[in-house]
Amino acid sequence: MNHKQVHVINHPMVQHKLTSMREKGTKTGEFRSLLREISMFLGYEVLRDIPMTTRRIETPMAEMDAPVMAGRNMAFISIMRAGQGILDGMLRLIPSAPVGHIGLYRDPRTLVAVEYYFKVPKDIQEREAIVLDPMLATGHSAVAALDRLKEAKPKSIKFLSLLCSPEGIDYFHEYHPDVPIFTAAVDEKLNEKGYIVPGLGDAGDRLFGTA
Ligand code: URA
Repeated sequence: MNHKQVHVINHPMVQHKLTSMREKGTKTGEFRSLLREISMFLGYEVLRDIPMTTRRIETPMAEMDAPVMAGRNMAFISIMRAGQGILDGMLRLIPSAPVGHIGLYRDPRTLVAVEYYFKVPKDIQEREAIVLDPMLATGHSAVAALDRLKEAKPKSIKFLSLLCSPEGIDYFHEYHPDVPIFTAAVDEKLNEKGYIVPGLGDAGDRLFGTA
């Protein structure tokens, strides 16, 4: 594992909420709220080094050049469908950020990712892409999404995932060693069906109530 490129956000708030998400009795509504909340904490870390500028403002006491985020500097890219759960939290942090979508499904037999949708902001070349996918499991869909996204030439890419498997991280960094991963936890392993163990089950099904 390329430890330098894996940032585990082990803040107690994140870990506590993640435990609630993992529990099998946690219902869709709560699961959704928890993912939104955790995503805001993870997003806070991912955005730590975004470009800043200043704006001249007036406080009740004085004028000052106050720090503000520089415009046009990022885009969120949601890997459908479970990426929508993280997107929800990220858009609470930056409601005006443009959003791209990459649609992939996993062939249940081969576990290989098949693309069915791709649309990213037109000016993606001027932006840092923050790719959102809750589960980095085999890494196949993440690698396929990044292969495709790199063709659109964003300025840089970061990958935000709630949970990762060690196998998924290795596979991911074999193909995209330049892309840092931000995550709440690296779990023990993948099972033979490509699910993360102990994990939380199927993130999309739990998020959308389709189990
Ligand atoms: N996708 C999921 O939703 N869960 C896993 O454990 C693996 C892939």
